[in-house]
Amino acid sequence: MTELKTRASSINRALDQIGDKWCILIIQEVFWGINSFGGMLEAIGVSRGVLSNRLKWLQSMGCLRRHPTGGNARHPVYHLTRKSIDLYHTALMAVVWEEHYHPPPPKGRVQLLHRSCGHSPVPTLRCSTCRRDVRGQDVSYHPGPGATRDVRDKKVRRRSSLSVDDVPSERSVYRNLIGLVGDRWTANVIALAFHGLQRFDEFHRELPVATNILSDRMQFLVRQGVFATRPYQQRPVRHLYELTDKGWDLFPYFLTLLQWGDKWCDRGAGRPLCLTHELCGESLHGEVVCNHCGEELRAHHVDFSIGPMQA
Ligand SMILES: [Zn+2]
Ligand SMILES: [Zn+2]
Repeated sequence: MTELKTRASSINRALDQIGDKWCILIIQEVFWGINSFGGMLEAIGVSRGVLSNRLKWLQSMGCLRRHPTGGNARHPVYHLTRKSIDLYHTALMAVVWEEHYHPPPPKGRVQLLHRSCGHSPVPTLRCSTCRRDVRGQDVSYHPGPGATRDVRDKKVRRRSSLSVDDVPSERSVYRNLIGLVGDRWTANVIALAFHGLQRFDEFHRELPVATNILSDRMQFLVRQGVFATRPYQQRPVRHLYELTDKGWDLFPYFLTLLQWGDKWCDRGAGRPLCLTHELCGESLHGEVVCNHCGEELRAHHVDFSIGPMQA
């Protein structure tokens, strides 16, 4: 039972703090330099009321800091904090996935330049021990010290169940990814699939959600190409939900988010979940590195722009 609860709770403590899809979009925009109220309003295509509410939430979670500009409190800008800067690797993994599976139009492309080596990196997730690329298939799980004591934070933002089509901005860099991780149940289903769950009733046993809602999310993930279905029983027909390559490739995003939660959302009990990298047998710590020089990518060593590459 502990393990069952832990599988879902470990990713949820990060998701509880980041909030819903609007919060994820806001943090993303600040990463790419959009940090005024008006700028976000335009970039995200969100209503004023929702934006103002989510900005307050992110400040209360210590993920954004508000600064008046030039002494004019009516036009504040929002800055990342140490806590949210630590989501940089997560943001990079989101860009890699989105660009691979849903290449944005040129005006929406994030261009990166690693100043340390002068190359445009493809950010890559590696095991910090054996330096090999991390794939979700090579990871095993067992309950950590915080497994039995994980109590849900009372300050939980109710997550919106809007579909991806409700994110209106064409420019949103991770439009498709947000549709998958910005919904609580969908994010939980994906996280559980990394643990090897494949049957509807296995997912249902772990998640306190109504059958019709879970069924809706599973179908959504099939339509998005995250799951492929295969019948394992006739009369009545039942299907296995198997992760596709597109689904497995979400693992780096989830791992960096999980590591962020371990670092910033720990309430003293320690990690609820321990991961082992089966290729080296060591406790897994993933780091996002430049594929050219192998150095870890840090926000202040990487220049970026959004739009076509300048010649
Ligand atoms: Zn390793
Ligand atoms: Zn480099």
